[in-house]
Amino acid sequence: MLSTRPARAVLSYPSISVWGMTTEAVAVEPHDEAPVYPSLSPSRAADFKTCPLLYRFRTIDRLPETPSPDQARGTLVHAVLERLFDLPAADRTADTAAAMVDPEWERMLEEVPDLADLPTPDDFLPSARELLAGYFTVEDPSRLEPAERESLISTVVDDQLLIRGYIDRLDVSPDGALRVVDYKTGGAPREAFEARALFQLKFYALVLWRTRGVVPRVLRLLYLKDAEICDYSPDAEELARFERTLVALWQAIARATEAKDFRPKPSRLCGWCSHQAVCPAYGGTPPPFPAPRAPSAAEQIESPGADE
Ligand code: SF4
Repeated sequence: MLSTRPARAVLSYPSISVWGMTTEAVAVEPHDEAPVYPSLSPSRAADFKTCPLLYRFRTIDRLPETPSPDQARGTLVHAVLERLFDLPAADRTADTAAAMVDPEWERMLEEVPDLADLPTPDDFLPSARELLAGYFTVEDPSRLEPAERESLISTVVDDQLLIRGYIDRLDVSPDGALRVVDYKTGGAPREAFEARALFQLKFYALVLWRTRGVVPRVLRLLYLKDAEICDYSPDAEELARFERTLVALWQAIARATEAKDFRPKPSRLCGWCSHQAVCPAYGGTPPPFPAPRAPSAAEQIESPGADE
């Protein structure tokens, strides 16, 4: 999805190339003596797992990707859901959310004027309202007080890798239990992305466990199109295994980068890939491998992936 917070919206459109992971080392703290670690976001880690060449195109070549109408609608719906919780509980109604769609879209267009060039279908705004209506069939926001929304979380694992990302919502129960909530608004078949979505949630669960000492009780995927909830409860052993998997994944990325060797891995997800024209699996030729360069300040700011 695109960003829902103004500062990140500017950073994340129109090029996906500033999203997620940087292969270069970044400092955790902004002073000279701070340890320096490579960093990894769930979106970029999932890219490498899905297709190493896709990872290269997005993270190393930084090939531009124009967001799809689905992604723009996802950003819009995320923004409405986030701002809905700014209102007093009694005002968080389906009608209020529906009424927020047009002004929120206007705000996005003001912040990112290029969005006006997006070929949005006639039902773009009505379908955003439908997704929000779907949300109200599975949750009652007047009964919720999220502890955090669009929150950046990060930690260093194995003394060598900074992992970080934004969570849509974090709920904390009176007894201190954590529930991580991720809104899914995409039009793509859900089964095509379910493993990726769960990977993303385990990533957040690992960061929360390492930073707060608590394994989240529930990882919740909220599918607005289908009006369905998918809950998953991780345990510490599983997250420890996941941590080792992430470190191994990072090492594989480092080896591929060193060897400049990122292979295509065709799958049904190719249908959502913007880079078929330069992919050997589709008869294309990748651009020359770019020379290493330091990330800009903007690129060091994490933002959500384009999974929606
Ligand atoms: S088209 Fe498929 S195989 Fe090629 S880069 Fe994209 S995801 Fe990978």
